[in-house]
Amino acid sequence: MRDFSKNHEWLSINTATVRRQWPLDRIIDECARRNIRAISPWRDQVAAVGLDRIAAQLKATGIGLSGYCRGGFFPAADAAGLKAALEDNRRAVDEACTVNAPCLVLVVGSLPGALEGKPLHHDMTRVRAEVRDGIAATLEYARSVGMPLAIEPLHPMQAAERACINTLEQALDVCDALDPQHSGALGVAVDMYHVWWDPKLEQQIARAGKKRLLAFHVCDWLIPTRDLVNDRGMMGDGVIELRKARGWMEAAGFAGYAEVEIFSEYWWGQPGEVVLDTCVEKHRRVV
Ligand code: ZN
Repeated sequence: MRDFSKNHEWLSINTATVRRQWPLDRIIDECARRNIRAISPWRDQVAAVGLDRIAAQLKATGIGLSGYCRGGFFPAADAAGLKAALEDNRRAVDEACTVNAPCLVLVVGSLPGALEGKPLHHDMTRVRAEVRDGIAATLEYARSVGMPLAIEPLHPMQAAERACINTLEQALDVCDALDPQHSGALGVAVDMYHVWWDPKLEQQIARAGKKRLLAFHVCDWLIPTRDLVNDRGMMGDGVIELRKARGWMEAAGFAGYAEVEIFSEYWWGQPGEVVLDTCVEKHRRVV
């Protein structure tokens, strides 16, 4: 297992972690200043500065990506909505190519309208089928341009609003169905905040193997958790056994970045410099 205690060469910052403090171009500069080698940016942050400007800045600073956030949200109320979602995912794949991402992360979506508080229907069987078809269609395009897709299972508390894929096992079943040859074109993003509780986690990480372990997201699960989305903890402040899980990832062949992804009203209220410096320190000590 790699020793993270001496440096932070395998630290990546998911840029949502400091999205309230800084625009993306400033985030990239602040990461470069701290020798942070990789980030995972969100589409809205990229669009706010400009895709080409960000691509050029990444090149100039030598900062790489550990992923691109995000595609997905495939289910819709009608055929026009399904088509619009597929078109949007194609654009996400193209953007990921422009910024040289190693994968496009998919938060697959669930009941249409639920995120806005008004689910248009309650048919989970239907949305699971739409997600499967949406991934299949996007995969065909993503394969043609060489962009791997990483399905991120979300904690079951998000099953209605954000993702009807809630365990690593479920995500890998989709991978098996759509990419039985384990080509590397389809895999998973293992976000510890969403999967830490799963009794099958070790077994399913081993099942995924090197080809399908495309990303590893870290933060911590706070006791108590006060908000279902925006109360993630800094590594070491909660109950997730991060180092043990990284051991499972590496035993399965994963050798990429540990990407810090913290949505937190508390950390968004701190100076960005403090947040990044804390990420570096905790990455060495806890991850
Ligand atoms: Zn994540």
